[in-house]
Amino acid sequence: MHTENDEANRAEKQGIFLKMDDVGRSGGAKYDYLLFDLDDTLYPLSSGLNLSCRKNIEEFMQQHLHIEESEVPRMCLELYREYGTTMAGLKALGYEFDNDEFHSHVHGRLPYDSLKHDMVLRNLLLSMPQRKIIFTNGDKAHAVQVLNRLGLEDCFEGIICFETLNPHHLEPVDCRTSDDQMVIIERTPEGKANSPILCKPSVEAIEAAIRIANVDPKKTIFFDDSARNIASGKAAGLHTVIVGSSVLVPGADHALSSIHNIKEAIPEIWEGEGGQQLEHFIKSTAVDTVILA
Ligand SMILES: [Mg+2]
Repeated sequence: MHTENDEANRAEKQGIFLKMDDVGRSGGAKYDYLLFDLDDTLYPLSSGLNLSCRKNIEEFMQQHLHIEESEVPRMCLELYREYGTTMAGLKALGYEFDNDEFHSHVHGRLPYDSLKHDMVLRNLLLSMPQRKIIFTNGDKAHAVQVLNRLGLEDCFEGIICFETLNPHHLEPVDCRTSDDQMVIIERTPEGKANSPILCKPSVEAIEAAIRIANVDPKKTIFFDDSARNIASGKAAGLHTVIVGSSVLVPGADHALSSIHNIKEAIPEIWEGEGGQQLEHFIKSTAVDTVILA
């Protein structure tokens, strides 16, 4: 169980968001923060990454966990529904595997070539006066790869990813013996080795991301292509936008068939509290993206 203190301590230790000076950053905008999902939100489902990802998960289950081929598709779907991600479900069922090994198998061979630089989205993001943060269930390497391929690697202040919400359970600790030889041992910090994986759509994961990013949910818009993530985002107090759908889903304040339509659908992002346009205040400089892991 992740506690509020754990998250606050981690964010403080990382010293990233807590030190950021938000005063005046958005120049009186209605919203101060934008929280973006990555996959199928910043690029369309038609890229084929989603389908490949699913195939790779199924292959991992057969090859590494020796699950019967005929069982795999049904299990995948049920675990995804029940636990948020198939990976979280496999862990909850007691399957033991290395998280990094899973991620490299599932994401390492994705057809990233199908993602191209998106200058339209880049210009939109850089013109938004708010602090922008990525919040993905994916791992760090995948998030960096996708952002680089899209040409958006410097458009966000931070990335909250799998490693952020699920820090390694086993940490090396150095212990010196009497003759001062270094011995590396592994320990289980705070008895968390078997704690469940924290990921969307759990409200707890979204609340953890809100704390780590140090944002005010009432001043934050959350973009995601998953209806259940949107429902949880709303439960956590965020303003919500379902992406990749032209119809509203429960808990969504806006629906965007493509992220490219953001300016037409939500002009408030570029407006101040009094309704004035903020664009002339905006400094369109790119920032270094920090990975919170
Ligand atoms: Mg997504």
